[in-house]
Amino acid sequence: MSGIALSMRKINSTITIPENVRDAIMGIVKRFRDRGYECYLIGGSVRDLILGNEIYDYDFATDARPEEIMKLFRKTIPTGIKHGTVSVLSGDWQFEITTYRSDGKYIDGRHPETISFSNDLRTDVERRDFTINGLAYDPVTGEIIDHVSGKRDIERGIIRTIGDPVSRFTEDGLRPIRACRFAAKLNFEIEKSTLNAMSGTLDAARKVSMERIRDEFIKILESEKPSIGIEYLRTTGLLELFLPELAECHDVSQNRYHIYDVYFHSIYSCDAAPKDRMEIRLAALLHDIGKVPTRQPGTGGDFTFYNHEVIGAKIARKIMKRLKFSNEQIDVVTNLILNHMFHYTDEWTDGAVRRFIRKVGLDNIENLFTLRMADRKGNGARKGLPAPIERLKKRIEQVIEEENAFSVKDLDINGNVIMDEFGLKPGPIIGKILNELLELVLDNPEMNERQQLIDTSREILARIESGAGPTD
Ligand code: ATP
Ligand code: MG
Repeated sequence: MSGIALSMRKINSTITIPENVRDAIMGIVKRFRDRGYECYLIGGSVRDLILGNEIYDYDFATDARPEEIMKLFRKTIPTGIKHGTVSVLSGDWQFEITTYRSDGKYIDGRHPETISFSNDLRTDVERRDFTINGLAYDPVTGEIIDHVSGKRDIERGIIRTIGDPVSRFTEDGLRPIRACRFAAKLNFEIEKSTLNAMSGTLDAARKVSMERIRDEFIKILESEKPSIGIEYLRTTGLLELFLPELAECHDVSQNRYHIYDVYFHSIYSCDAAPKDRMEIRLAALLHDIGKVPTRQPGTGGDFTFYNHEVIGAKIARKIMKRLKFSNEQIDVVTNLILNHMFHYTDEWTDGAVRRFIRKVGLDNIENLFTLRMADRKGNGARKGLPAPIERLKKRIEQVIEEENAFSVKDLDINGNVIMDEFGLKPGPIIGKILNELLELVLDNPEMNERQQLIDTSREILARIESGAGPTD
């Protein structure tokens, strides 16, 4: 991925603002003009209008000061007033309008110590990160103002810092990670001196908080081809800073079933998962993360990875905690990793199918199949799910339709009934009885009937009280 692709992309030479937002944008710009201020669309939205990409945020830059912006519009929120940003509400839209500014000295590798407002668009553009993010557009005249040759870089598909890359990355260590994000999102290449500076300024990147890194990393996972961004992260040394476990998978060879090493198989599986399913993408990226510590020589030069799904789920939990993902996200992803090795055959009994549903959880089954599909695609040649798994899907649907019990909650009895019936106090014994009942019901769904369950509980209780172990 080194070198610059000189082929020009097809880009929009004239910008058209989508119909549904045009009036709102014109209204804002004209209001500034009427009062003698400048106002331009700026940054990512101009870039994406030129590229014809979908746009979620429209940002504006103006020479009006924040307090003046707040006077000009009825509905405003002082979102980032310290840095000169005011949000303006117009219809269903919320726009961020930021006063031209230049940033003072950076203190902590992340934030400027001071900012000063400016009357000059060029000053404002020069504090921005990449040339492709430095364009301004005047929707009234249709003029694109390009102080940093950003249009040329968009045409060529190049990410390049505005100004000297080493100093720009030393100022703010998040920028190198943003470069990887834009490379993945736009399928662009990072220009050589910018790329070199990314490996040379890792100390600045080390100072960035895990939350900020996570937010950029999530955007990489949501892009068309995350592998592009992740590969830039790895080759520059950035990946090592927050996800060393994945970097270590590089060059770890597998066995005759795999043409890729563990690392490339992981990033290609991630590409193959649906882009709007971030958790599945993350599970795909980390599903084989346990292969490094479990790798053992097998026969004929091959390697085995016994239990890698269990170790992998633990490692993934540690990684996701480090990156401050929510407990809910951690549970979904680690559950998928833990269960990704299931091996279905037609010999599975209905009880085995129900046990599988119980283990994976009803809500996560579809995700597990989607992960399996991505895992297969990430392997090179194979596509789709093999026939036995399609049959397992059918059987799961059948079993679900029969409204069987999959968890203690689904039993036709609960802890209170058992306590009343046998005069027991709350305690672990209740859970023990319920779990044994569930095990029986998973194999014999017809047993899920209140009176039968009470009778069976009596037998289980008698056995527990006599100190005997379970019957099977
Ligand atoms: P996206 O479409 O993903 O939102 P974006 O380019 O709008 O992409 P934002 O993070 O929303 O990215 O930032 C808006 C603009 O602010 C950028 O285009 C860039 O001009 C500037 N910017 C954002 N973060 C930085 C930074 N860390 N350093 C310098 N400029 C930045
Ligand atoms: Mg944006």
